[in-house]
Amino acid sequence: MKVFKSMDLFAPLKRALAEQNYETLTPIQAQTIPAAIAGQDILGCAQTGTGKTAAFALPILDYLGHEQPRAAANRPAALVLAPTRELAIQISESFRVYGKHMRFRQALVYGGVSQGEQVKSLRRGVHLLIATPGRLIDLIEQRHVDLRDVEVFVLDEADRMLDMGFLPALKKIIARLPDERQSLFFSATLSPKIRELAGRLLFNPVSVNVTPKSPSVDRIEQRVWLVTRANKLASLHKVLAGENVDRAIVFTRTKHGASGLVRKLERRGFRAAAIHGNKSQNARQQALEAFRRKQVTVLVATDVAARGIDIDGVTHVINYDMPVEPESYVHRIGRTGRAGAEGIAISFCTADERGELRAIEQLINKRLRVEKQQVPLDSNEPSTTKPGGHRPSTRGGQAKRRQSENRRGAKRPFRRCKKTRQRPDTSARRPAAVG
Ligand code: AMP
Repeated sequence: MKVFKSMDLFAPLKRALAEQNYETLTPIQAQTIPAAIAGQDILGCAQTGTGKTAAFALPILDYLGHEQPRAAANRPAALVLAPTRELAIQISESFRVYGKHMRFRQALVYGGVSQGEQVKSLRRGVHLLIATPGRLIDLIEQRHVDLRDVEVFVLDEADRMLDMGFLPALKKIIARLPDERQSLFFSATLSPKIRELAGRLLFNPVSVNVTPKSPSVDRIEQRVWLVTRANKLASLHKVLAGENVDRAIVFTRTKHGASGLVRKLERRGFRAAAIHGNKSQNARQQALEAFRRKQVTVLVATDVAARGIDIDGVTHVINYDMPVEPESYVHRIGRTGRAGAEGIAISFCTADERGELRAIEQLINKRLRVEKQQVPLDSNEPSTTKPGGHRPSTRGGQAKRRQSENRRGAKRPFRRCKKTRQRPDTSARRPAAVG
């Protein structure tokens, strides 16, 4: 097993990692970091929870630490694109933690809030820009961002970006990147569309696939409760009132369903908050913060909003509605069992959701334990008594790869060659047919 201590990383970076008790590299990190530091493009198939943020953040910070590029106004040297504001914020936080003993400037831009502060932080000078695609395009068009100096480009959760309809925005952004750059591409799935996008963007990448064949992590205990639509709420009450529920994320299919469920849970005495796309950015952040601080113990979420939530200590994931896409099941349950902890995932399945259940079992190549629930129908009515002993406790209990050939020829691993004063042989990277 590879350990951070034995790696040739920028020393202040190593110090921060030691403080975070990071000792061994996760598989995606072990396969990605050395190649990325050597300047290679990366095609990483990995989902959240595998340590993929550090897999791209550490090579970027190592580069910034060793090279000390100038923090130019509006012209970042590294760009990270993420599909959602939540994920962008989390990535930024990870950079802050890993880079706490270094001097570097990052700017974070996302939509749904006014752009004033974001523009100011860009103007002050940036090494690293973390952005969601829509706001980035707005700022580029207003000339608040210029991507000409980008040396390292990261596209995170590419599959989710395409699901969210960001392909046109991505194409625009990629077209503005310089040909000579390094690209790190991460996606939880590699559909033909994703491969096509990766093909445009990457040159001779190192491919890393850490998505296990059966992606549901062993540590997560997965169960299915056969329920009726009418007794889903009572079934949820039963789960949440259980002894070991410390923090739970409940997934609903719709935004409306999420808000409605929060109201019903609150009436039953649970402290719950919703997070979905109709909420303002502030409301979403507040809900996440309250959940992180355990002021609320139940977070009700839709798939898109929950993607990338990185909160350790989620003991339970409950699929109040079965996910429509089987892949979402894997993402949903991956919110628990993080950072080596154990977790429980319970999926409520009604008779008409059996098809979804079968699709999930096929994807993960495993039969799930099915339990018939016998929660009385009338228990779906709000109880007048607070859950009392049932109440969740507040603690403890719960390049564009331009087809341009000159880029290929010109592209250089950005750091090692400078550090070692040796220009790595890039000729091997140039296809023979290129003149
Ligand atoms: P990610 O997949 O980037 O969302 O990371 C999942 C979780 O694993 C986060 O809580 C990270 O802080 C944690 N993590 C990432 N890499 C390591 C590591 N090498 N050792 C311990 N924890 C890690």
